[in-house]
Amino acid sequence: MPSIEAFLSRTHIAYLSMEIAVRPEMRSYAGGLGILAGDVARSCADLELPVVFVTLLSRAGYFRQVIAPDGRQLEEPDWWQPERWCVPVNAMVAVEIERKPVWIRPWLYIHTCPHGHQVPILFLDADPDQNGNDDRALTHYLYGGDETYRLKQEIVLGIGGIRVLRALGFDLHTYHLNEGHAALLTLDLLNRWRIPPDERIAGELPYDVAEVRERCAFTTHTPVEAAQDRFPYELFERLLPDFVELDALKRLAGEDRLNMTRLALNLAGYVNGVARRHAEVTKQMYPGYRIHAVTNGVHAGTWTHSAFAKLYSAHWPHWQHEPEILVRALQLAEDEVWQCHERAKESLIEGVKAASGVALDPRIMVVGFARRMTGYKRPLLLFEDLDRLAAIASRRPFQVVLAGKAHPRDAEGKECVRRLNELIGRLRGRITCIFLPNYDMSMAMMLVAGSDLWLNTPLPPLEASGTSGMKAALNGVLNLSVPDGWWIEACIEGVTGWSIGREDDDPKQHASLLYERLENAVLPIYYEDPARWRSMMKQAIANIASYFNSQRMMRRYASEAYLR
Ligand SMILES: *Cc1c(COP(=O)(O)O)cnc(C)c1O
Repeated sequence: MPSIEAFLSRTHIAYLSMEIAVRPEMRSYAGGLGILAGDVARSCADLELPVVFVTLLSRAGYFRQVIAPDGRQLEEPDWWQPERWCVPVNAMVAVEIERKPVWIRPWLYIHTCPHGHQVPILFLDADPDQNGNDDRALTHYLYGGDETYRLKQEIVLGIGGIRVLRALGFDLHTYHLNEGHAALLTLDLLNRWRIPPDERIAGELPYDVAEVRERCAFTTHTPVEAAQDRFPYELFERLLPDFVELDALKRLAGEDRLNMTRLALNLAGYVNGVARRHAEVTKQMYPGYRIHAVTNGVHAGTWTHSAFAKLYSAHWPHWQHEPEILVRALQLAEDEVWQCHERAKESLIEGVKAASGVALDPRIMVVGFARRMTGYKRPLLLFEDLDRLAAIASRRPFQVVLAGKAHPRDAEGKECVRRLNELIGRLRGRITCIFLPNYDMSMAMMLVAGSDLWLNTPLPPLEASGTSGMKAALNGVLNLSVPDGWWIEACIEGVTGWSIGREDDDPKQHASLLYERLENAVLPIYYEDPARWRSMMKQAIANIASYFNSQRMMRRYASEAYLR
């Protein structure tokens, strides 16, 4: 029976995240944020970093995406069975919401890395019998419900999370808040460092904020204003009456609304953006804060297809622990790299056939595009001029595999899904395009490894980092992307992949620039200069995979954020 005791004395850092992708069958994640948190956990285990993870159980998952005959996205609950992978921990804590206790029971999942080291992941569950029916649903639907539901979830994560850790007996020096969702944890710490009334200085906060800052690190993940939580203070006051001094909270989290990003910025002694460009944009949004940049990375062992893993292991047995060694990839034999790619492409073709009935042609270039369906990711950009796209394909063919979920309340994103499916129909007979429903971790593994070209078309500067292109590079898949987020750092034009225009181009030109690159750079090399294509695959592995991995990311967090 796995137990939490073994971890108590050797764990000093807690990482809190609304979602964590531990394994595909555990539906406690929605997308990039959760996948990143999972890669953080996997790297912490590999590197033996003393971290415990805390997230919500999300029994009904994010949602299962079904595509209706008319192309619209339908959403169904995506229930999973925690007891298959986790054990309930015999410790419950209560948080008072609207002056009533909500009981939270943690479930323990233990992640074991290839050499045997383990890290604990705690899933918070508000579903014990002691709670009323409404409260029991609080940790069912990831990012579900309304504003009130979301704030309650964040109370469970931040305040419930730190109380569970304390109740279990952890002795922690750092709390790492992965995105603003966990920022209410700081309120619990403020209360611990409340200054007694007779020691207060007029005009200063009634809390010893320096003590809180010393204990908190914060990673912000999005420059999209609407994606950052802001709650009305009336709602906060209703759910958590008299929890902290409201005047003080307003000074820390914004006068008009409780802004979770601002709260975390003010109470974390270390703040990080997820790419250099993102850190700059965050500084413009929130002037006056010091924002570091540790660019995201992906877990090499998780995202590398087994064929490539075997090839890498033959050359560098320790490559999973130290993916930096992939910098030596230029010494790989080009036909071996190509054979590994053919295996990965076969896996994709089999997967597509099983999911859709469509048989892709292995000799034709596969363009992969899978990401959250939302306005700024511009999933329709490739299809802006169908006739031009079809004309390009008539000269040198390609096939397109698409996937992605839209948040149930993102009307624009849902319209993208419907429209994509409509456009795919209009291209029938000219270009094979397939939309695979229900994008998740296992589908991502198949797509990022088996595509020939990985496409990304965000509207700059809104892609904070992006990580799927990093997964592609681990498998020698070449990126064609708008220069934004991580790609600004990773692209060497014509060597590691291609950029769609330059950073300061007018976004209205992007579709045209995309067609131009596809037609004049990507397709001719793929079909007429296979030696150059294969050498670029090696350049992508050597220059991208060796650097944009989560071992490098966590070594930097360890030395810069955790060892302050
Ligand atoms: C990697 C991944 C993402 C994030 O990819 P982006 O490039 O940031 O869009 C989202 N969802 C799944 C399932 C993933 O594996």
